[in-house]
Amino acid sequence: MSKVNPDFVEKISGFTEFNAYACINCGSCTALCPMGIDLLPRRMFRHVMLGFEDKVLENTEEVFSCLLCKMCEENCPKEVPIVENIKSIRWYINRDIFKLGRG
Ligand code: SF4
Ligand code: SF4
Repeated sequence: MSKVNPDFVEKISGFTEFNAYACINCGSCTALCPMGIDLLPRRMFRHVMLGFEDKVLENTEEVFSCLLCKMCEENCPKEVPIVENIKSIRWYINRDIFKLGRG
């Protein structure tokens, strides 16, 4: 059972404002991703918005395997800033988990 952190979006937004509220979970991003990353962005972003911090931390490998190619973002019908969101999640993981600087 996931523990909810109600401040998680705020925590993630330290690098740039996390914004995935327009996502309609259409799946285009997953279908087009050259890396076949199923979790990013639609499910991972939902985990962030719901405050499921542990779910995000369970999947750091997917977060860092993204090429930042924007194939998903350019075809997103709701213009979700996917790559900036992914960078924000990386920044949070680098800072809070790996104790490094910017992601
Ligand atoms: S393509 Fe955009 S709207 Fe569709 S699931 Fe991905 S992020 Fe959400
Ligand atoms: S930016 Fe990342 S998630 Fe989006 S299509 Fe490219 S590799 Fe996949």
